[in-house]
Order: sequence, then C-alpha cells, then structure tokens
Amino acid sequence: MPETSATDSSQLTDLAIVGAGIAGCSLVVALRQQGWGGSIVLLESGRGEEGRAASRRSRHNTGLLINHGAPLFNLTAEAPRSPLLSGLVEGGWIAPFRGAIRSLDGSGRIGPPISDGFTAGQLWQGCGGMHQLAAGLLALAAAQPGPTALRSSTLVRRLRPNPQGDGSAWSLDDANGAELLRCRWLVLSGTLLTHPRCQQVFGWDGVPLQQAAVQLGDPLLDQAAAALAAMESTASSNLLLSLPPELTPAWQQQPWRLLQFTPEAQQRWDLRRVSLQAQADGRWAVVAESSAAFADRHRHVYGSRSSAAQLLGAAPDAQAEAAVIAALDEALQQALELPTSGADCQLMRWGAAFPQRPGLPTELQLCPHSRIGFCGDYVETRGFGRVEGAIGSAMALAELLRPHL
Ligand SMILES: Cc1cc2nc3c(=O)[nH]c(=O)nc-3n(C[C@H](O)[C@H](O)[C@H](O)COP(=O)(O)OP(=O)(O)OC[C@H]3O[C@@H](n4cnc5c(N)ncnc54)[C@H](O)[C@@H]3O)c2cc1C
Repeated sequence: MPETSATDSSQLTDLAIVGAGIAGCSLVVALRQQGWGGSIVLLESGRGEEGRAASRRSRHNTGLLINHGAPLFNLTAEAPRSPLLSGLVEGGWIAPFRGAIRSLDGSGRIGPPISDGFTAGQLWQGCGGMHQLAAGLLALAAAQPGPTALRSSTLVRRLRPNPQGDGSAWSLDDANGAELLRCRWLVLSGTLLTHPRCQQVFGWDGVPLQQAAVQLGDPLLDQAAAALAAMESTASSNLLLSLPPELTPAWQQQPWRLLQFTPEAQQRWDLRRVSLQAQADGRWAVVAESSAAFADRHRHVYGSRSSAAQLLGAAPDAQAEAAVIAALDEALQQALELPTSGADCQLMRWGAAFPQRPGLPTELQLCPHSRIGFCGDYVETRGFGRVEGAIGSAMALAELLRPHL
C-alpha cells in the first residue's frame, strides 16, 4: 500500500476515509471487491493501519510484538466471512485462535470461560500478531484494481464542507490548518472527530463534525452528528509486560492464554482480562486490561510511548504513568499470585476502548446529501463494540455507498 505525502493535496480524491482501523480497511476491500476502482485515501493518525486491533513493536526491545488492543476476535455470523474472511484465511493473515480461555472469580479461583460477548462463535487471531488483520485487509484491497493510498501519522483536525465548488464535497485539514486533501466523498471511521471527548481531553475548540454540520443544514447529518456526540464509551488502561526468561516458566504453565475476570473479580482487582502472548523468539508477554472503573479514575494518564497520544498533544506525566503501572502490576500479582519483578512494563491507554449502546443507527450510516458516511464498531449492527461489528458496518456502508460513487 503506497504511502503518500502531504504534497499530494492538489489532487481530488474520490473517497477519503478517516481511520485505517478494521472498519476503514474493510470498507476499502468491500468497495474494491464490488468492482469500484475510484481513488481512495486512508488517513490515519497512528503509525500505520490497525486501530484498536493493533500490535505494538518496541524500539528498545527488538523482536517484541505485543497485541495491546484486541488479542483475538470472534465472529458470530456467517455473513462477514465470505469472501472477505476467506481471503484473509487463504492469504495466511489470520488463523483460528486455539489458546485456552478461562475465568477468574472474586475468590481467585480459575473456572470455565464466561460468556461476555467476546468469546461466542468462532475465534480468530492475526498470524504473527493482530496487526496482520488490517495488513491482510489492505493486501486484499491492493490485489484489486483501483488506487488506494495510506497516509499514516496524519491527524485530521478539521472537516470543511464543499470548499471549492470544484466537484469536491469536503476538504480535510491538519492540526496546523494546512489542507491535507479534498475529496468527493468522506467516511469517518473513528469517533475523535464526532465526540465532545476531543474538547474535554484534548482541548479542541469544538467537535469537528458538529462544526461542519452547522454549515450544511442537512437534517440527516444533524441527526447522525447528534447520535455520535451522545455516544458513551468505556476506556481501558492496559499494562504490557515483557517477561524475563526466569519468570517465563511460571506463566507458561498456566492453564489459560486468555483469562476473563468475573464482575466480582473486576471489582476486587480492577482488571478485566489478561492475555498471555508467546513471542516469535520464545519470549512471553502479558497484557493486563484494566476495568473500566480503573481507566476512568486515571483518565488523563497516557502511556508515554503512545504515538497517537503524542500526536494529539496529550502531555506525558512520568510520575502519574509510573503510579498507574505500579497499581496495575500490583493488582496482577495479587490476583494471579505470579511474579512480575524484572519484567519490562509499558502502559497503553485506550481512551475510547469500547463504545456503549445506543450506537449509531444503521439508517444514519450514510448522509447522501452531504456525501458523508460512517463505519466502525459503534454502528448498531451485529458485533457492536467488536471487530465483527467494525467489519460488518463497513460492508453495510459499502452497499449503501456503491450506487452513489
Ligand atoms: C483493549 C481492547 C481489547 C479488545 N478486545 C477485543 C476482543 O477480544 N474481540 C473483539 O472483537 N474486539 C475487541 N476489541 C475491540 C476491537 O479492537 C474494535 O472493535 C475494533 O478494532 C474497532 O475497529 P474500528 O475500525 O471500528 O475502530 P478503530 O480501531 O478505533 O479505528 C479507527 C481509527 O481511526 C483513527 N482516527 C480516529 N480519528 C482520526 C483522525 N481525526 N485523524 C486520523 N485518524 C483518526 C484512529 O487512530 C484509529 O486507528 C478490543 C479493544 C480494546 C481497546
């Protein structure tokens, strides 16, 4: 997938997609598989495609690749599996998840898996890391005719409707007010530009979608903007541990690779889930996902190694970060009675980890008059709040968009 630079802004793009997570990438594949060959540019604030189904590499710890968002995904419907999923399986991008899943109750007892929506149906994982899911989607798209470009490390800060009267419907600007591109159609796949969180957390002067909607006077867009602005989400503060060799056997012997905490256990230890991840070089990593309540109490503490937080200007606070890491580490040791000392620790905070219902109604996914659409796991569809919903919402949007493109 070619990377393009900011100097390409003179070209008019047929479709711009803000966000190269699973929904954004699935939308590209779905449109290409329908035979649409128009130009697409994906704009992504992170280092590459992935979004919340991401694997973190470490600059100072070569070879380490930790799934610090979704460690797996589940599909409960047949529909999203074909032909998109079959292409991913045949291309070797994803494979069934075969790790054992167990639960931990409030007394510290290990039990059978609990039904929390993330384990129903068929379980899948990226081959060699969850980032392979988005990479595979873009590879499937690249195999079809039509120019697709990914601009990573690019934060879209403002949306300007119909700027030039030159056939474009939208102009997108970066944080310095420079135009990134003009496009005929726009799709937003993340919620940063649609939710007051951008004002509360990052001090923006308004919600970009609402600011644009005021200028357009499109009742359907007004409804979509209102629904998106009202949507709540829960956060997750994740502790990432790279285990030293001497600690590995104790962890490796555990009868689980994914451990779900029951509501009582979550309340007691402030953890929601722990995953144990084998590395290609024989090392092991652990990811402990905090409870929503813990993440809420530490809502301004970002991991200093988060590139997205840096791009958004979230000020790093080394002391607060160390305190959050210590609290999660302590909780992990107490809950599992397993050693962690000597492990390399990092913090990753997902500010909007899991959207809460009600999500965006499907009838508001496309606003043809304003030439804007929405896809993501926040759309009210099967798989809401999960990878399945991100894929399904993109496939549904592709169907809605196709007659207009
Ligand atoms: C800790 C954690 C664990 C999870 N576990 C599971 C699980 O076990 N199973 C499961 O199915 N799902 C799980 N999920 C949820 C799953 O990761 C998401 O449902 C899915 O990845 C959502 O994809 P998306 O494309 O809709 O959104 P995202 O992945 O959020 O993609 C949106 C993208 O848009 C980009 N973006 C947003 N605004 C801008 C802007 N203004 N400019 C440029 N780029 C922008 C963001 O950087 C992001 O990459 C988990 C999530 C987290 C955080």
